[in-house]
Amino acid sequence: MTSGLYQKAYATSFIIVGSIVHSENITSLTIIEHGFIAVVRGRIVSVCKGTEKLVKTQHKYGIDDNSVHHLSEGEFVMPGFIDTHIHAPQYPNCGLGYDKQLLDWLTTYTFPLEKKYMDVDFATKVYESIVNKTLTNGTTTAAYFATLHYDSSLFLADSVERLGQRAFIGKVNMNHDTPEGYGEDTYDSFICTEQYIRDIQGKRNELVQPIITPRFALSCDMKLMILLGELATKYNAHIQTHISENTGEVVAVQKMYPECKNYTDVYDTAGLLTNKTVLAHGVHLSDDELKVLAARGTAISHCPNSNTSLKSGLCDVRRLLNAGIKVGLGTDVSGGYSTSILNAIRCALQTSIHIFFGKGTDSDYVPLSYHEAFNLATLGGAKGR
Ligand SMILES: [Zn+2]
Repeated sequence: MTSGLYQKAYATSFIIVGSIVHSENITSLTIIEHGFIAVVRGRIVSVCKGTEKLVKTQHKYGIDDNSVHHLSEGEFVMPGFIDTHIHAPQYPNCGLGYDKQLLDWLTTYTFPLEKKYMDVDFATKVYESIVNKTLTNGTTTAAYFATLHYDSSLFLADSVERLGQRAFIGKVNMNHDTPEGYGEDTYDSFICTEQYIRDIQGKRNELVQPIITPRFALSCDMKLMILLGELATKYNAHIQTHISENTGEVVAVQKMYPECKNYTDVYDTAGLLTNKTVLAHGVHLSDDELKVLAARGTAISHCPNSNTSLKSGLCDVRRLLNAGIKVGLGTDVSGGYSTSILNAIRCALQTSIHIFFGKGTDSDYVPLSYHEAFNLATLGGAKGR
């Protein structure tokens, strides 16, 4: 669906007649070969098998024949994809820099690009483009990292609002070991984030929400993370960050926080693990860490394209699901080279099969099925929110 159609969808009422595919649980796909879906001012009010109730539904909601769209043979309607982890400012770097792993990749390619977003004209151009691109790919909900810059982060929210996407948008926080010209002091980071939350919530648009976004434990000290956790409580806000993506990163986090048991304990100590928190990656988490995340109701965004492109590792989603953790899919642009959640589904399936190969094909390990991956891309991602 193009962004124009998406906007129109929110202003009008209509019915789509044809095949409907959606996911109500992780174990199966629901397929209605012939039915209809009725939408009234942006909300689905009816999903029916067959068309016996079509006319009655039209009368009930005042939908005339011109607003009843019949799909062609082979077409189907499905829920929008949910991208639970994407860095909007990194879009210009898609496909670049995979000669380095995470920490060197950040300093060599990513931070120099993100610095440029102090220029709001540059930011507006890129942000308009990435929101259009993700909508074209079928992503109707996205959790965006912006940059440290307050003004351009608000421009990302404006683009999302104008183009009609549902999104969680985070102004990034970084006050530790920051590159030249791309860092904040603790007080400014806190004050600026609180103002940013107020500005986004002040839009009173249920589709556009702020999300508290400490980059990761190596870029924020404990004092700042505790303050951000307090902001999350005060404003009932979501939280997103990265965890346990790369083994070098895990070692560095343990060195920086020797008083904490592990990476998860760093965020738990800061009060950042809630049932509204989404952690990207989680490739190298221990069993003890999984127990804590499950107990907190914290979700993992699985980003298989990025994990392979940056050689971070194979994230075992089956293990996360068995531990009772909510899982969604993320593109992690530009750690991942694709803006498409359909690509993330394919990569998730391949990663899971590669894990199966590693265990030996005579093992009883069950790789993800396509209907499980479809669930992670839609309802699974929604649960993470
Ligand atoms: Zn990321």
